[in-house]
Amino acid sequence: VNIPVPKNEPCFNFAVGSKEASLLRKACQKMRNAAPFEIPLIINGKEYRTGQLQDQLICSDHHSPIARFHKVTTPLIQKAIEGSLKAKEDWMNLPYSDRSAIFLKAADLMSTKYKYELLASTMLGQGKNVWQAEIDVIGEACDFLRFNTYFGQSIYSRQPQINPNHIWNHVEYRPLEGYVVAITPFNFSAIGINLPTAPAIMGNTTIWKPASSAVYSNYLMYKILQEAGLPDGVIQFIPGSGRTMGTQLLDHPDFAGCHFTGSTPVFNKIWLHSAKNMMNLYKNYPRIVGETGGKNFHIYHPTCDVDSGINGMIRAAFEYQGQKCSALSRAYIPRSIWPEFKRKLLDKVSQIKVGQSDDFSVFMTAVIDKSAYKSIKKYIDDAKEDSDCELIFGGNCDSSKGYFIEPTIFVSKNPLNKMMKEEIFGPVLTLHVYEDNEFDDILKIADQTSEYALTGSIYAQDRDVIVKASKQLRYTAGNFYINCKSTGSVVGQQPFGGARASGNNQKAGSVDNLHNWVSPRSTKESF
Ligand code: NAP
Repeated sequence: VNIPVPKNEPCFNFAVGSKEASLLRKACQKMRNAAPFEIPLIINGKEYRTGQLQDQLICSDHHSPIARFHKVTTPLIQKAIEGSLKAKEDWMNLPYSDRSAIFLKAADLMSTKYKYELLASTMLGQGKNVWQAEIDVIGEACDFLRFNTYFGQSIYSRQPQINPNHIWNHVEYRPLEGYVVAITPFNFSAIGINLPTAPAIMGNTTIWKPASSAVYSNYLMYKILQEAGLPDGVIQFIPGSGRTMGTQLLDHPDFAGCHFTGSTPVFNKIWLHSAKNMMNLYKNYPRIVGETGGKNFHIYHPTCDVDSGINGMIRAAFEYQGQKCSALSRAYIPRSIWPEFKRKLLDKVSQIKVGQSDDFSVFMTAVIDKSAYKSIKKYIDDAKEDSDCELIFGGNCDSSKGYFIEPTIFVSKNPLNKMMKEEIFGPVLTLHVYEDNEFDDILKIADQTSEYALTGSIYAQDRDVIVKASKQLRYTAGNFYINCKSTGSVVGQQPFGGARASGNNQKAGSVDNLHNWVSPRSTKESF
């Protein structure tokens, strides 16, 4: 196999009045008119309808469901597991070039034939504006498929370099023994497709439980995989409530691993449950790979470029309503630049337009669902009452039509306040203004208050300061940025993931992640 280095999927211009914008607007309208779509489970290539239905709502217009999906039942979970185990032999014996061809074709179908449908499903279903939808369900999703097939081939070519006389050494990179479970989050369709396909590229069969609030776009991507030639049973598609069925997927002797992205508490439950099962059920120690929460930071130094720093701040904190795992949620600003910073920040943030996701002029839409709305609103309401915190922008919430929350900014005089420490996962940013001569202390505080370690940025023009911050914050972020915002990692350019409570840092979109899905066997032959 010789898959060349892929190029990142380019982004289009959906400028108002352009041909692309008009095609996409039509696709959104058509989808709204035809919704709700009924989504079955797909096990061994066959559709199942259990009649236990759940709605996926348009979050900016929650009286309208976009989809209605059938939820998996216990017997169907068993069927999915058995089907995965059965499909495994043929799948792992298929040459890597044939396996790869399926995922590469799927990426091409996604970026061409199904582009507008996928974009519309992510805009309406997951509340993304057009640009956020594009970087997710087209850009990153295609990149994951193309780069993972490219990285996978490099694993198979790793062989021992020393073969003494009469000895032949060989390492076989086997898929894991058993089946792999992929439990995916709502906020990136790209992560939706990456988690089941990365293990599958390496010869595993996987069971995909999509997030309940992202089932529609995930289902469309699944159908594209099928059209690209995915054999029956290689990836099972089983929507259902994570809370009620999540751990059942782990209760089988042949459970080999879980590829998870989502919140830290759910990942902890998966670890705990599988650790207990290890005592008396499993054949192998399972590979438990998780990318979880974050409390991401920007630190501004007195030498920073204020305009670029504010631009990065607005984008990192408020794009996709602050619901990116990498979203900026706390920032530290020196007293000397604060008056200018504050004036310019308030001017910029007041220009943010919030509205329906298929209104192409909006920067922000609604948050994903009622439970997210309630939890974010509670943080805002509590902070309004907190004497440490001053509300300097936004703070209004309205769920009458959609789950709308204004871009909201607090200033906390206490850098240890919970607003500076806890993941809120919404459009809420808390700032702390520090004295210029306390910069070194602020680096320490930023690190010591970091239960999470996902993303973070330093904004400074002084190189010595950058080097110092980079060293001091070595363990505070798995993705560290210098003079750029904390969001927007690109597959093949910045492998993504964090440590501490942000996961086990197995770097999505890199060869490191793929190593989790193989179990090497060493062979020595004498002759
Ligand atoms: P979530 O509530 O943890 O859900 C993630 C997935 O887990 C969903 O499919 C969910 O199913 C399922 N689930 C829920 N309870 C479960 C249980 N007890 N057992 C097994 N599965 C269960 O997270 P989310 O709201 O979708 O996503 C937001 C979180 O993900 C944030 O914390 C964010 O930081 C994190 N995230 C991290 C990264 C990263 O790369 N580090 C990337 C994206 C998101 P249901 O939908 O049916 O509840």
